[in-house]
Amino acid sequence: MSIVIIGGGQAAGAAIRKLRELGHAGQVVLVSDESHLPYERPPLSKEYLWRIEQDLRCIAPGRQSNERMLLDSSATSIDPNAKTVTCANGTVLPYEALLLATGGRPRRLSIPGSDLANVHCLRTALDAGALRRSLDHCAAKGQALLVVGGSWIGLEVAAGAREAGIEVVLLERGDRLCSRTLPTADAEWMQSLHTSRGVAIRLRTTLERLEGSCLAEHAHLSDGSRLKVGAVIAGIGIAPNVELAHQCGVHVRNGVVIDRHGRTSISGIYAAGDVAEQTCAWHGESVRIETWDNANRQGEAAAAHIAGVAGEGPASVPWFWSDQYRINLQVVGSPLKGNTVISSQSDGPQRLSIHLRGGAVVGAVGINRARDMRRLRKLLGEQALLDEAALQQHGFSSH
Ligand code: FAD
Ligand code: NDP
Repeated sequence: MSIVIIGGGQAAGAAIRKLRELGHAGQVVLVSDESHLPYERPPLSKEYLWRIEQDLRCIAPGRQSNERMLLDSSATSIDPNAKTVTCANGTVLPYEALLLATGGRPRRLSIPGSDLANVHCLRTALDAGALRRSLDHCAAKGQALLVVGGSWIGLEVAAGAREAGIEVVLLERGDRLCSRTLPTADAEWMQSLHTSRGVAIRLRTTLERLEGSCLAEHAHLSDGSRLKVGAVIAGIGIAPNVELAHQCGVHVRNGVVIDRHGRTSISGIYAAGDVAEQTCAWHGESVRIETWDNANRQGEAAAAHIAGVAGEGPASVPWFWSDQYRINLQVVGSPLKGNTVISSQSDGPQRLSIHLRGGAVVGAVGINRARDMRRLRKLLGEQALLDEAALQQHGFSSH
C-alpha cells in the first residue's frame, strides 16, 4: 500500500509515527510546504517562543527507508480517478491511500497597516521566530505588545510577554475571553488572572488601523483611543485548508467530513486534524476540533485504517490544555453544553468546575488540577453517563 500524506503538522506526524509502530512496509510520501519534519506546535506560543526550548520538538524523528519527506513542497491538486497528487514543482505522486492533513492557516487582520513588519500571526516555527524578534524589540525599547484576540494564542503570548516584563494591551471584540471554549465563570477567572498580572484587557474593542512607516507605531482602536505599540500579534482564529479537498470533490462542510476511521466521501482519501470535521458525541454534532490531542488521535486512526488494523476508531473525549504563568488549564468534554455546574475551589490558584446537563457530566475545566482532570478524562472515556452520584463515589463533590 503506497501512501501520500499532504501536510507536515501534528496529524501527519502522528500518522507517520503510527504507521511505523504498525510496521507498515509500503511507501509513505509526506508532502509539506514547511522546511521542517513535522513538529509540535504547542511550544511555539510557550517554551520555544521564550527560548526555554531552543529546538523544535520533532514528532516522528528520522526517516525510514520506505519514507520520502518532500519538504518545502506544496501539493496543488489531487486526481481521485488517476489516484495521483500533483505538487507545485510538477512532481506527480501516485497513491493507493491519501491522507489530507493540511491543518489551518491563521486569519489575518485586514485593516490599514496590517502588512507592517511587526504585525504577526502565530502558526509555524517561522512565525514564532519573527514574533520573537519583535518581542525582543519591545523588551529592549520598553514598548507595548498589542494582542488582538482574547483566546488561546492571545492569552498564551500575553502571559509570556508579561513574564518578560513587556507591557501588554489585549483587545477582544466579544464581551468575554475564550467564548468559543470556556464557560463564563472560567473565562472570568482567566480574565482576572491576566488583569492581576498587568495585562490591560479591553473587551468589546477592535483594532481599526495601524500607523507607522516600516513598523506599526500607533494603533487606533474602536473606542477612539490611540496607543503607542512596539509589536502586534493577532490571534483571531484559523481557516481550515480545505481547498484541495474542494478541488478533488471530497465532501466539505466547515471541514472535510470524515467518519470515525478518517475516511472521506471518496474511497482511498482520508483526512485528519484541524482540517477535518467528524461527528462528536460530546458536542452533539459534526465539528472541527482544533486541538493537539484531536490531531494525534485522528492521524493515528486514519493511519491504522489505511494499514488495515482499524479498531473502533477514536471514541475519545475532547481534551486540551493551556499553560499560562506556570498555571495549567485543562478542558475536557464540552463544558459549554452544561446548564448546571459543580464548582470546587481551593485557596490557591486552583479551580475545578464540572458541568452537567440533564444530570450527566458534559465537561469540566480544571486550573492546576491536573490529577483530577486526568481522572475525569479517564472516567468520561470509560462510562458514558457520569452523574452526580457517580462523581461523589469517585471523590468529586461540590465544596
Ligand atoms: P497543522 O499542525 O496546522 O499542520 C498542517 C500542515 O500542513 C502545515 O505544515 C501546513 O503548512 C501544511 N500544508 C497545508 N496545505 C498544504 C499543501 N497544499 N501542501 C503541503 N503542505 C501543506 N492545542 C492544544 O491542545 N494545546 C496547546 O497548548 C496548543 N498550543 C498551540 C500553540 C500554537 C502556537 C498553535 C498554532 C496551535 C496550538 N494548539 C494547541 C493546536 C494544535 O497544535 C493544532 O490543533 C494541531 O497542530 C493541528 O494539527 P494539524 O496537523 O491538523 O495541522
Ligand atoms: P481562536 O479561534 O481560539 O480564537 C480567536 C478569537 O479571536 C476569538 O475570540 C474570535 O472572536 C476573535 N476574533 C476573530 N476575528 C477577529 C477580529 N477580526 N478582530 C478581533 N477579534 C477577532 O483562535 P486563536 O487565534 O487563539 O488560536 C488559533 C488556533 O491555535 C486555534 O485552533 C487554537 O485552538 C490553537 N491554539 C490552541 C492553544 C491551546 O489549546 N492551548 C494555544 C494556542 C493556539 P469570535 O469568537 O467572535 O470570532
